[in-house]
Amino acid sequence: MTADVQAMRWNGTAAGASPIIGWLLDNNVTARYVCSDPARCSEFNGDCPHWIHVDTPEGVAVVSLGDEVVQTDAGFEVRKQAVS
Ligand SMILES: [Zn+2]
Repeated sequence: MTADVQAMRWNGTAAGASPIIGWLLDNNVTARYVCSDPARCSEFNGDCPHWIHVDTPEGVAVVSLGDEVVQTDAGFEVRKQAVS
């Protein structure tokens, strides 16, 4: 086996979510862009928290702004940004 680890960091934007979700879908992993408050979002032009939800065997992994999605031999995992 190759230890061919790949990672993508999310910048928190919808545009930035697309390639990550596409990458996951290409690997048969379901992921979606989630808006915390669509009404507020449309009124204030995207001013609300967003996440990427990734379906894993252990449940839904939540990707927040600055987090990294990492592909390992075992599958995908989310590495949380260090909270300051
Ligand atoms: Zn939103």
